[in-house]
Amino acid sequence: MDMPSRNTADDRSSGAADEGSRGFFGKFGGRSRQRSEAPAGNLHTRDALLLLQNYEESGRGWFWATDAAGRISYITDAVAQLMGRSGSELLGTAFTDLFLPVDSHGERQRTLPFLLTKQSKFDELPLRSAFEGDDRWWAVSGRPHFDEGGALAGWRGSGNDITAQRRSAEDASRLALYDSLTGLANRFNISKKLDTTLAAFSQQQRSCAIMLLDLDRFKQVNDTLGHPAGDALLKQVAERLLKIVGDKEMVSRLGGDEFQIILPDLEDRGKLGDMAADIIASLSQPYSVEGSRCIIGASVGVAIAPFDGQTSDDLVRNADLALYAAKGNGRGRFRFYSSDLHQAAEDRRALEEDLRDALVRGEMELTYQPVVHSKSNMVTGVEALIRWTHSERGLISPAVFIPIAEEANLIWPLGEWVLRKACEDAARWPGDLRVAVNVSPIQFANEDLPKIVASALATTGLPADRLELEITESVFLGDSAETARMFKALKGLGVRLALDDFGTGYSSLGYLQSAPFDKIKIDQSFVRGATVPGSRNGAIIAAIVALADALEMETTAEGIESLDQLDLIRKLNVSHVQGYVYSKPVGHAELIDHAEVGSWTIKPSGPAKQRNDRFQMFRKVGAIHGNHRYNVVIRNLSTTGAFIEGILDVPVGTQFVIDFGEGQLTTATVRRSMKHQQGVEFEQTMVSDGNGGLCTRHRVSPYLIAAATQQSTSHLALPAFTTTSDWKAA
Ligand code: C2E
Ligand code: MG
Ligand code: MG
Repeated sequence: MDMPSRNTADDRSSGAADEGSRGFFGKFGGRSRQRSEAPAGNLHTRDALLLLQNYEESGRGWFWATDAAGRISYITDAVAQLMGRSGSELLGTAFTDLFLPVDSHGERQRTLPFLLTKQSKFDELPLRSAFEGDDRWWAVSGRPHFDEGGALAGWRGSGNDITAQRRSAEDASRLALYDSLTGLANRFNISKKLDTTLAAFSQQQRSCAIMLLDLDRFKQVNDTLGHPAGDALLKQVAERLLKIVGDKEMVSRLGGDEFQIILPDLEDRGKLGDMAADIIASLSQPYSVEGSRCIIGASVGVAIAPFDGQTSDDLVRNADLALYAAKGNGRGRFRFYSSDLHQAAEDRRALEEDLRDALVRGEMELTYQPVVHSKSNMVTGVEALIRWTHSERGLISPAVFIPIAEEANLIWPLGEWVLRKACEDAARWPGDLRVAVNVSPIQFANEDLPKIVASALATTGLPADRLELEITESVFLGDSAETARMFKALKGLGVRLALDDFGTGYSSLGYLQSAPFDKIKIDQSFVRGATVPGSRNGAIIAAIVALADALEMETTAEGIESLDQLDLIRKLNVSHVQGYVYSKPVGHAELIDHAEVGSWTIKPSGPAKQRNDRFQMFRKVGAIHGNHRYNVVIRNLSTTGAFIEGILDVPVGTQFVIDFGEGQLTTATVRRSMKHQQGVEFEQTMVSDGNGGLCTRHRVSPYLIAAATQQSTSHLALPAFTTTSDWKAA
């Protein structure tokens, strides 16, 4: 403490210790009274002293005094003890040393030393105890007193405990910054943080990613298990998020089931994609809330400054758009922002509108995909798959429009139409082929479902055991009593039940024991994984098959395309197969043709091996060589290379910079060259864009582009290649 010190060390110790024990006014009362007026009424000095002593002993307040240098000459023993000392121990200590020089917000507290130096009185100054283990707050008042010559003689004052008031004030300010349920930063807090981070980072040309996260099916938990359960779930979600993200201050709950994460200095889309996938996987693990098991999912949108926006408004809006797209792609996914999402969001809204009267306009149709007995190649049934032929856009995948229908409350009429149409068709097939119909979890949660199913069977005359309802694991969410009632009602009708998409989300074998399934359908992603060397999927499939056998359930492997996959599936004793290796979905007329022949068998055919995730496409990109930029078309793309078309006779070994747009540049070397086509290998591997496509890991920052346009570009004057357009023109 830089207290002005005019006193010597000897002065400091002069008799203070023994006088201290006589009480505050024992030492100072008399002297101070000399300067004051006569006591009020007829109270004697001694009485006044006793009153003050009583007050001191009551613990409601305390007194202090210092010499002119600010060293303690008296302090109430009780308060000294709260500070872990005795009154006499503290004598001679600088009064300012009793308090922390910083306040709770980390701001320096200059006031006390300053006031003492200024020799002015102060009242109720809030100060925090400096003693370890003591986090009290005191309101301290003090008055200087002077000797006859007018020089400062010392200080006297009082203090009282304001810890409780202080805490509630801090709580209030914490409430203003933190979400009271999860303890995470709140919307206000995180948006300020993002503002300041982005402002600072744009100066320093640093990048910063944000993730927006929305829970899938959270509303169902709230609706079926109640709000306290929903709250308990949100707390666990927050804990899981913190475990992955680490920095507590950067994770926020925006409200409801929406969260935001700030990730400073992160622009690597490979790392961001991995993190988003980790978050989704972690949040999709089952929760136990108030004795119920429940399962939700999460979707994530990612935007990165400065590429996707430089202000927090732009960045958040774009992350939100990415989130919307992630949800539109069938939930449980992440998605990076890209500028074409603006168009996609508009398309989706338009699609929702068109979906409203697609049924009336007769744009919906059912196709049927054979389900084949894996050992005998005999078709035992078909799965009804809905097809929408849009008047302008052509065929639209159910993976796209079913989630829209679910969100827009259109799934119920659509689902009922599918059910009635499938039963009607199946009733006309010769033989006893089964028909499987997909039932959305939203239909499953509606207590009218058994009535509709019964009515569809009754009006078409289809025997109940020829109808199979496919439901996904998400029906195990929420009220298990209600779920059990629904299972019972459906089984009571005599229909078969299949568990669809097993192995996609949060699979647990636990509920198989209790739910009355006749079949488990193992998802295609799971089967594909099984052919990858070192994968444990094969062992897991074997376990599922063993369990299913024991429970007398059938198994179907979905999405089998290649002969090696079929081989594996047969070895693992999966009883049925559904996939292109046998047949794509076929129209009703074609199905009738096959079924009429009697027993319907299909010889499997397909590629020997599954090709390694190569995306067939027709995408226009730029290929830059020297100071020439060519327009080329990518015909297929993998993480490590691409097949490009459009430039003639390029020598092997030539290096291009491929420009995918939006700052996505990658260096590529020609490895194979055939007239107007080249196979190129990328210098750096591409990463998943969260949407089944690929993107570059890094992008060229707008800062660099701005800097580059200041200077002239390449000085290389390499010879230009001929392009196919020159070639066609010639
Ligand atoms: P799902 O029920 O798992 O259906 C299997 C999907 O895998 C179908 O896609 C089918 O065409 C596809 N598939 C089958 N074999 C192969 C293969 O070897 N390779 C590949 N790449 N794909 C294969 P589709 O018809 O596009 O349907 C997608 C999803 O949309 C369905 O997945 C189902 O969840 C939903 N869906 C389809 N029709 C309906 C419906 O009528 N109602 C409801 N609620 N959902 C439906
Ligand atoms: Mg299905
Ligand atoms: Mg499936």
